Amino acid sequence: MSAIIYPTTNLKATETLTLERGDGVYVYDNNGNKYLEGLAGLWCTSLGYNNRELIETVNEQLSTLCYSHMFGGKTHQVGMDLSDKLSAMLPVNNGKIFFGNSGSDANDSHIKMLRYYFNAIGKPEKRKIISRERAYHGVTVASAALTGLAPNHEHFDLPFEALGILRTDAPHYYRGALKGESEVQFVERITHNLEQLILKEGPETIAAFIAEPITGASGVIVPPKGYYEKVQAILNKYDILFWADEVITGFGRTGNDFGSTTMNIQSPDLMTLAKQLSSAYMPISAAVIKGDMYEAMIEPSSQVGVFGHGYTYSGHPTAAAVALKTLEIYERDNVFEKAADVGEYLQRRLAEFRDHPLVGEVRGAGLLAAVEFVANKSTGEAFNGGAIGAYAQQACQKHGLITRSVAGSSLAFCPPLIITLEQVDELIEKFSKGLQDTLDYVVRENLI
Ligand code: PMP
Repeated sequence: MSAIIYPTTNLKATETLTLERGDGVYVYDNNGNKYLEGLAGLWCTSLGYNNRELIETVNEQLSTLCYSHMFGGKTHQVGMDLSDKLSAMLPVNNGKIFFGNSGSDANDSHIKMLRYYFNAIGKPEKRKIISRERAYHGVTVASAALTGLAPNHEHFDLPFEALGILRTDAPHYYRGALKGESEVQFVERITHNLEQLILKEGPETIAAFIAEPITGASGVIVPPKGYYEKVQAILNKYDILFWADEVITGFGRTGNDFGSTTMNIQSPDLMTLAKQLSSAYMPISAAVIKGDMYEAMIEPSSQVGVFGHGYTYSGHPTAAAVALKTLEIYERDNVFEKAADVGEYLQRRLAEFRDHPLVGEVRGAGLLAAVEFVANKSTGEAFNGGAIGAYAQQACQKHGLITRSVAGSSLAFCPPLIITLEQVDELIEKFSKGLQDTLDYVVRENLI
């Protein structure tokens, strides 16, 4: 082992996988083993590995202007070009963009901009944010508070109460429905709970509701039809902003340009983007707010003399250049449209596993999917503990497929957007072998 403190890792674990290089949808380890990257790294390498255009863009920018900041009126053409192109493709009205380095810091920026905005319009009490159970919004102190997963809170004394994060139901019908409850009744109940929470807290104290249109890290939860329509009607009624965290679902991942489009969400007021914004060739994120919010923030900034928020690397020119090139490639090569077609095929092929004795639910949209394992297929009873997902992940890896165990007993799939139909077949074949090994293990250990 090395001196690294590994992120999101059991610090007691000793097993590592040393990757050496990547090409297209494949990565290779230091023993020359080849893996199909079924999770696009961490849901991010949309254009795959070793994309020469992106690499040349980075090299060119490094040798022209490797770094410049954006404080106090400094700017650069590539940053401005990126912001214009990005703003024009987003479903946010006249979107204004604050650049950062990660999804987590973009969400922190949003929390601060929300406060700045509501202070500016004379509503300083409007500062609470509603987030959902099982949400994942990052791991910085503030974004971890938005996240609704125990491992991101436990042992860190999180979430900090002062941040005013409220929690409402995860829209997961398979896990969350009451006995005999229909999807319609489920949506009715959890949106009623949301409204009750708003009334209990006082609508005048609530700034925003944050949601991943389809949650990623907590198991790829696709809300039932009609959910967001009901949520947005309630938020509009009480003057609460809708904040779409599209860090995973942005840029063609779910069969449309954005997850908000797939899930029929109408013009989000805020949007968080990262990962596929640059196909992960350089770290960059975007905290987007609608134009009206920005307009209101100008006045107090001039009074104090400055909008006192910014990172050394906000709008890093090399990251901006590679993000701009990524967006150009998406457009030029019809990447989203092709990914939508291949995505439909992936969903169809994964659905073939619905009858497998270990599989409780297959879910997803576009090139984002999860398979949930259950101890009892007819009752949906979950496995006790998280070992099944981890076992299946390892088993798939042995057969040359990288996936990710999420929420204990689900395996997630999120291959690069450039994956072909034949490579989906290869993914399915490898998954099938990993699943068979997992079933053998479960039977051997009497876990079923
Ligand atoms: N939001 C969502 C929806 C995410 O999936 C993630 C990361 N998986 C983040 C925020 C945090 O992004 P980062 O890891 O770049 O800080």
